[in-house]
Amino acid sequence: MATRSRRTAKTSFPFTSKKTGHDDTIEIDDGRKPGQWGRAWEVDLFSLVAIICLLIFCPPMVFYFYVSCTHYDCALSAPLLGILIGDVTVAEFWSQLPPITADGFKIVLSWMAFQVILTNLPDLFHKFVPGYVGGIQPGSGITPSGEHLHYQINGLQAFCISNGLFLLNGFIFQWVSPTIVVDHCGEMLWVANILGYLVSILVYIKGHTFPTSPKDCKFSGYFLYDFMMGIELNPRIGKWFDFKMFFNIRPGMIAWTIINMSNAIYQYQMHGYVTNSMWIVNIIQGIYVFDTFWNEAWYVGTIDILHDHFGWMFGWGDCVWLPWMYTIQGFYLAYKPVDLPLPIAVALLTLGLVGLFIYRAVNSQKDYFRRTDGQGLIWGAKPKYLEATYYTSDSKKRMIKLLLSGWWGVTRHMNYTGELMLSTACCLACGLQGFMPYFYILFVFILMTHRCIRDEHRCKAKYGRVWDEYMSKVPHRLIPGVF
Ligand code: NDP
Repeated sequence: MATRSRRTAKTSFPFTSKKTGHDDTIEIDDGRKPGQWGRAWEVDLFSLVAIICLLIFCPPMVFYFYVSCTHYDCALSAPLLGILIGDVTVAEFWSQLPPITADGFKIVLSWMAFQVILTNLPDLFHKFVPGYVGGIQPGSGITPSGEHLHYQINGLQAFCISNGLFLLNGFIFQWVSPTIVVDHCGEMLWVANILGYLVSILVYIKGHTFPTSPKDCKFSGYFLYDFMMGIELNPRIGKWFDFKMFFNIRPGMIAWTIINMSNAIYQYQMHGYVTNSMWIVNIIQGIYVFDTFWNEAWYVGTIDILHDHFGWMFGWGDCVWLPWMYTIQGFYLAYKPVDLPLPIAVALLTLGLVGLFIYRAVNSQKDYFRRTDGQGLIWGAKPKYLEATYYTSDSKKRMIKLLLSGWWGVTRHMNYTGELMLSTACCLACGLQGFMPYFYILFVFILMTHRCIRDEHRCKAKYGRVWDEYMSKVPHRLIPGVF
C-alpha cells in the first residue's frame, strides 16, 4: 500500500551524467533520495529515549555485574535486593566496587598500544598461509557518497601473535600470571570505560572539525544522537588507521579468546580442573573469534563497516561492552563451575557448532555472490537474484544484485539465526542456576531483531520497490515459516 501511494508522488532530482556532461533528470518513483540509505537520518522520540537510557544505564551495569559475581555468588538480583530490604547499605555496595589502580592503567594501555603496533604492521600471513586473504584489500561496498575504500587486512597475524604470546607466557616464560585478566578485571573495567568515553569524544570532535570524508558525515541536529551513533562513517588517521576496523575487531575481539583462557585457568587454579561447560564456551567462542580473523576480508562488507557510523556505540561498546559482556559466560563459570552431564554437553556443543556452521555458510555465501557478481554457483546451481538500483549522493545510479537462492532464499537473516544458536549454546552451558549468563542471549536477541528491522528500513530506502519484492519472495526474517 505504501508503495502504491508513493508511486503517485514522483520525486525527481537533477542528475549530471558523467559521460555526457548534460543535466538529465532521473525520476525515482518510490520515494528514494540519493545517498539517504546509510545511518538513520530521521531521529524519533523513541530513539532519543533509548539512547539516553543506554548512556545512563550501560556503564553502571558492567560494574553491577562485576560486583554481583565477586561479592554475591554471581546472583544478579542479590545486591539490589540486599539494598532494597536493608541487608546491604549503598555505602557497602559502593565499597565493593573495584578500585582504580595503576595496574589497571598499565595493563589496558599496554594492550592498546601493542594492538596499535600490530595493526600498523604489513601483513605477512597472506604470503604463506594458503587460502587466506590478507594485505591491502578493497572494501566490498560503496559509501553513500560514492567512495570505495581499501583496507589493511592483517587481523589474523595480530590475533596469532597476541594469543601465541599469551600461551607462550602461560606455558614457558611466565612473565605475568595467566589469570591476569580475572585478577585485574574490575580495575581494567574502569580504564576501559575512561578510554571508551575518550575515544567517543575524540571522534565526535573529529567529525565536527577534521572529518576524514566530509561527504559521508551525518548530523542529525541532536547532540546525543550524533554522539551515540557517530558522525563519521569511516574515521581514519593517516591512510590505514581505521577507527572502526581497529576498535571493532582488534583490542576487544583479540582479547576475547585471551579472557576466556584466563577464566579457564582461574577455574583450574580455584577448583583443580576445567569443567566441560568451560571447554564448550572456550571452543565455540574461540572458533567464532578465529573465524572473524580468518575472514577479515569478509568483515569489511558487514553493516558495521559499510553503514554504521563511529560514535559511542562503537567507541565505548568496543572498549567495554564487547570484552566484558561477550565473555560473561567464562567469567561466570570461573566463579561458579558447572559440570554438565555428558549427553547435555555433547548436545550443546553440537548446537553451537551447527550455529557456527550456519553463521559462516550464510555470510560466506553472500560474500561469494557479491564478489563473483552473481556468476558463481550457489548450492550447486546458478543463483536466482533480483536486480536493484540505488543512488549515491553524487546522484549516480548504481546496480546491485539481491540473492534469492541458497540461505538467502530461506530467510532474510539466517546468519543472525546461526549467531543466536551459538550464543544460546554458550549460555545454556552455564546451567540453570543463575540468570547472569543468560543476559547475553537476551542482549543478542534484542540486538539481532532490532538489527533486522533497522537493516530492512535502510534497504527499503536504498532499493525501493525491489526490496519489497525481495521481502515478498523471502517473507521471514530469522526462522523459516515462523518469524
Ligand atoms: P548482513 O551480513 O546480513 O548484511 C546485511 C546487508 O546485506 C544488507 O544491509 C544489504 O546490504 C545486504 N543484503 C541483504 N539481503 C541481501 C541479499 N538477499 N543479497 C545480497 N545482499 C543482501 O548483516 P550484518 O552486517 O549485520 O552481520 C554480519 C554478521 O555479523 C552476521 O552473521 C551477524 O550475526 C554478525 N554480527 C554479530 C554481532 C554481535 O555483536 N555478535 C553484531 C553484528 C553482526 P547492501 O547495502 O550491501 O545491499
